Amino acid sequence: MDCGSQGDPPLRSITALVARKISLTVISLLSLGLLWAANATAGPTSTRLAYGTGEIVPIPASIPHEEGDMVDRRILPNLRWLAQRYPIFISDGYSGPLPNGEYAGCHGCHVKNSDHHNGLAVDISPLNWSDKCDANWRGITRLAKWAEPLQNQPTPPFRWVGYDGDAGHGCGHHLHLSWEHALVAEFQLAEWVEVFPVKLMEVGDHPRRKRPKPEAKAPAGPPGGISSIRAGGLAARGD
Ligand SMILES: [Zn+2]
Repeated sequence: MDCGSQGDPPLRSITALVARKISLTVISLLSLGLLWAANATAGPTSTRLAYGTGEIVPIPASIPHEEGDMVDRRILPNLRWLAQRYPIFISDGYSGPLPNGEYAGCHGCHVKNSDHHNGLAVDISPLNWSDKCDANWRGITRLAKWAEPLQNQPTPPFRWVGYDGDAGHGCGHHLHLSWEHALVAEFQLAEWVEVFPVKLMEVGDHPRRKRPKPEAKAPAGPPGGISSIRAGGLAARGD
């Protein structure tokens, strides 16, 4: 008869309990870590719809860009925020006619109904240009993954992210970012643009606002907008 065995079970239970508690703590910490990692890489924590009057404006010097590039001013705070965190250089923004008869951006570079034609898309390359997918592109790849953690599932407010896996885009080529917006004709200003609130981004979690369904009809552009050339819906990709 094993006399010692009678005293063992309680001790074993305590040991087992302690071991279980420790493993549960480890699992909780691991989950917390994963949650943190997911939050750190999966795009903005909240978005809002900017209904303010749109306007095609020059990109300010605080956001590195090709001379003459312009965008709808409502995405400027987001671009400024991105420029402070990623080594971006904007190679194209709004592409279309200006009220003064001139043409902004790259003419004939984008698909029909491209978000570039509404000033709500930018093409991005690294601040230190390289035509090879090298270390200069690391920050751009990080930004691409932040905006689109899974292929073809851009995180709001982004409507289309063009990078690795998309023809004509990717590391060593360029990154395309489009912002979600109201259905609008080409070369018109959208009624609303979905953006991430820059101030809240420092604070953390806020519920994400639900997107309204796109209107059946394209609203007329705000007064003082750019002239309409032809009507259209949203491009499938927006590049
Ligand atoms: Zn583009």
